[in-house]
Amino acid sequence: MATAFVPPPTYSNFINGEWLAPRSGKGIEDRNPANHDELVGIFAASDEADVTQAIDAARSAARQWSLTPAPKRAEILYRCAEILVRNKDDYARDMTREMGKVLAETRGDVQEAIDMTYLMAGEGRRLFGQTTPSELVNKVAMSVRVPVGVAGLITPWNFPMAIPSWKVMPALVCGNTVVLKPAEDTPLSTYHLTQALSDAGLPAGVLNVIFGDGPQAGAPMLNNPGIDLISFTGSTEVGRIVSQACAPTFKKCHLEMGGKNIIVVMDDANLDLAIDGAIWGGFGTTGQRCTAASRVAVQKGVYREFAEKFIHRAKSLRVGDGLDPATQMGPCINEQQLKTVMSYVEIGKNEGAKLATGGHRLESGALARGWFHEPTVFTDCDPKMRVCQEEIFGPVVCLIPFDTFDDGLEIANGVNYGLSASIYTRNVNNAFRAQRDLETGIVYVNAPTIGAEVHLPFGGTKNTGNGHRESGLAALDFYAEWKTLYVDYSDRLQRAQIDDN
Ligand code: NAD
Repeated sequence: MATAFVPPPTYSNFINGEWLAPRSGKGIEDRNPANHDELVGIFAASDEADVTQAIDAARSAARQWSLTPAPKRAEILYRCAEILVRNKDDYARDMTREMGKVLAETRGDVQEAIDMTYLMAGEGRRLFGQTTPSELVNKVAMSVRVPVGVAGLITPWNFPMAIPSWKVMPALVCGNTVVLKPAEDTPLSTYHLTQALSDAGLPAGVLNVIFGDGPQAGAPMLNNPGIDLISFTGSTEVGRIVSQACAPTFKKCHLEMGGKNIIVVMDDANLDLAIDGAIWGGFGTTGQRCTAASRVAVQKGVYREFAEKFIHRAKSLRVGDGLDPATQMGPCINEQQLKTVMSYVEIGKNEGAKLATGGHRLESGALARGWFHEPTVFTDCDPKMRVCQEEIFGPVVCLIPFDTFDDGLEIANGVNYGLSASIYTRNVNNAFRAQRDLETGIVYVNAPTIGAEVHLPFGGTKNTGNGHRESGLAALDFYAEWKTLYVDYSDRLQRAQIDDN
């Protein structure tokens, strides 16, 4: 018997407070990576004409928003946070449907957006500058934060609500208007965030959202003179394109890019704790975190025992649909990413790394309809192998044996990335030396490489970042300009640094 045809939901761009269809009239499918037969929605396939319209709307709203007192801007963020709290479970389910990570993690993703929204709402009554003494009499000196203008934000798919919130919330509280282009694989989570801000009372034009792919809907922001700053999170490859495109117009440009993170396990570590950390760090989010621990270097005294237990744990991970509470690891985000993982498995084998477990796509039963890959462990890896140097972004962990503490640190630092590193040890001297000498933006002791908290700076060195930081108060330094103010009430000419005063 025929059933009623239900068309998939379609989603438009959000420009000047209205949901507007893209000029092209075309859409991009958002499909469930655990079951690609399930169409989550069809989202606007935008191009330069839509982007220009969004930038114009953001520019028109910029003056009024910048003049809105920061505590008033913050009230909207507080209301938005409450909406996010109320809808956390629904948003998490939708996020699992569109990108596959398990419910506990998508709930965590929404929670991170809630935390960031509250944190930045609190900044509305602070946004501290510095008030200092002047070197001259009867003169006041201070610095204040002022908005930069229109912020262009480009985000990846692996933290579909958290990462947009890391950028949108500080941008808004600092008084900027925004054009946001989320990843094409996870637009639904951005749709929810946008709707929450709109329902919270954000004025028209202050936040504009353009759906679509990178070259069509992201790139037109980069050289448009109506955009004053760009904040990009994504791959190092695209980050380089973004950086170069921003240079001719001197846009303030913030890049958060790839990683090749490491857990260093010393002979004196609590081994079971280190194994728990390496499993969570390596296979959480199917290894698709910028902070994923894709390398685990283990000192030789405990290497065999660690490897045996770690392989056993990796083998026993339950892989499946993230909506099933029993699932511990979901699918890769899409077919292309699955193919990348499979190609790195071949690269590792050809380089002589020992494939200890995994290494194949999972295709039995319902798994055949998704982009699933076995949790995979390579042992006895040489740190110079490509699988130990390049970001794989999938459920593949390389175990690397080493001799001394210094060797462990050399391996840790011997990559082109610098996001997160961790050491498991009970030796307090080595713990502090590692914190000093690891060349990453984030260092953990006796905890895995993942687990950042929103009130501290987040970002990396080398090919991971370009010196700015996301999160915490550090974010304010990017989303606001410093303006320095002097008031001389002496009624005479006073000259700084000149000896005649
Ligand atoms: P990606 O670089 O493919 O895409 C990121 C964003 O850039 C997407 O919105 C995409 O549409 C857009 N884009 C692509 N080409 C563009 C172009 N030419 N011009 C403008 N925009 C363009 O990255 P991804 O696959 O979405 O995410 C995975 C990558 O992100 C990994 O490398 C991961 O390490 C990194 N990442 C880094 C952090 C961090 O904070 N350092 C956090 C999460 C993810």
